[in-house]
Amino acid sequence: MVKSFQTRVLFILALTCLALPPLAGLAAAKPALKANPRNVIVLIADGCGSEHYTLARWFKGTPLTLDALLVGGVRTFIADSVIADSAPTGTAYATGYRTSDKLIGLGPKPGTIAGVSEPATEMQFKPLATVLEGAKLKGMATGIVATSRITHATPAAYISHVASRSQEDLIMEQAVYQDIDVIMGGGGQYLLPKAADGKRTDGEDLRSVLRSKGYVLAQTRDAMAAFKTGRLFGMFSGSHMEPEIDRLEFAPQQPSLEEMTRKAIDILSRKPGNNGFFLMVEGSQIDWANHANDPAHLISDMLQYDGAVKAALDFAKQDGKTLVLALSDHNTGGMSIGNYGTSKTYSQMKPDQLLDPIRKMKLSAPGLLRKVGNDKTPEKVKEAVKNYWAMTISDDEAAAILAIAKRDPEDPQNGFGEVLSPKYTAIGWSTHGHTGGDVPLFAYGPQSPKGLLDGPEIGRVTADALGLDLDRLNGRLFVEAQKAFPEGRVTMDKQDAENPILKISYGNRNAELPINKNILRLDGADRELEGVVVYIAETDRAYLPLQAVQAIKGVKTALPAVGK
Ligand SMILES: [Zn+2]
Repeated sequence: MVKSFQTRVLFILALTCLALPPLAGLAAAKPALKANPRNVIVLIADGCGSEHYTLARWFKGTPLTLDALLVGGVRTFIADSVIADSAPTGTAYATGYRTSDKLIGLGPKPGTIAGVSEPATEMQFKPLATVLEGAKLKGMATGIVATSRITHATPAAYISHVASRSQEDLIMEQAVYQDIDVIMGGGGQYLLPKAADGKRTDGEDLRSVLRSKGYVLAQTRDAMAAFKTGRLFGMFSGSHMEPEIDRLEFAPQQPSLEEMTRKAIDILSRKPGNNGFFLMVEGSQIDWANHANDPAHLISDMLQYDGAVKAALDFAKQDGKTLVLALSDHNTGGMSIGNYGTSKTYSQMKPDQLLDPIRKMKLSAPGLLRKVGNDKTPEKVKEAVKNYWAMTISDDEAAAILAIAKRDPEDPQNGFGEVLSPKYTAIGWSTHGHTGGDVPLFAYGPQSPKGLLDGPEIGRVTADALGLDLDRLNGRLFVEAQKAFPEGRVTMDKQDAENPILKISYGNRNAELPINKNILRLDGADRELEGVVVYIAETDRAYLPLQAVQAIKGVKTALPAVGK
């Protein structure tokens, strides 16, 4: 078993090496590429396997921007599963550590799969510093762009530390107090309390916090375009943004992923001081198209993602000191070009046969469901499918689509792809969930990695490129409060359960540190910290920046440098 696995890895490595583009030649032609990078842009195609790029390329009819950048692959397994979800893989890419399912920016929990060692007690659920936090400490500009809520797992892994990816109100609070230069995506409802039609249960209005921090809040493509200087918080939807294929139909005021990426790069690269920048961009909905087994939604978001990669590459080529990494966090859907319907005819497949049915699909599966409306009858389903997917389907097929909507009440769109993709297209699917294969790795610029990398290595490659020492960074950002201060001096005030406060008494000093914020209230006076304060209920441990520990203790020595 072990032997065959190793053989397979070697085989894949060999294949990967054979498939490598002549990047070495490129580096020789441009000596500047060997220098240390000044900027790092990480682009993540959520839930995207290898075959997805092939399909997008056939549809586009010319090579993808990504094609010239292929350098290897990434293994995606997590601490407690062979098949990954975005929270732990995002954490691996952001922090350099492999962690467990659902965890965002925290060390793993006990109960690991064979081959992954059990975490030491102090590492369990311990906040792990992210490359974005490190870049910020080095004085670099930072940015996050996604088409999901920016509190969704992948962006969350770069900007927050919580024990469950579903704690999006906590993620948003940390995002607001991280002092990031540019954030763009969806999720505006997590900025507002329930009383103001938001989702927050802690009663806080984070929109006014953002204003007090000097952010410009943009809610439309035009407002984004008009933004000139300062910090930008672009919230283009209360929840997720629209699938690319639906954007012009349902929300033309939203920017595309490529537009957001170009704007973010423009803002970050022009930040006064010019210390370089770190930007993470996620094509969030590639994953959801795959979950729904929806080829047209998949391709439209893939091509938009490729456009975002082009935006990054255009900048990197001009700049000469930017490392671009593009990869995905896992595969979703198990998509294949070819399905049971092509079992006997696959060797006669012409491009038009593959592409024609998909070219006629004009909305995503959730978009179709919106067109069906509240009156969910087989007739309405047939009509919507005829109008927007150009398929004349039977009563039985319409009934099957509606039966799946009942079977999967949280994903009622699943039926369209599950029933129709195998019958009316040549695209096959194996699941509505994720799958566990390696994913392709693309890179450009100085310190580009190559070969088959382990997920956490992506975090370390990124940290190296940013010139960060992750150990020192972790020591500086997350000190366990109970270990830093004598017994009995540390308490968690949970009187207001939604707004807990870490309280520390030291000598005659009294410190209060509200959780999920970067504020130290020392003897009644507030000061801003260089990182957020985190409390983990699972272990009843609180963590604060070393800067706060030193302030409370009156220590004046300089903080350890986070650079290499
Ligand atoms: Zn997913």
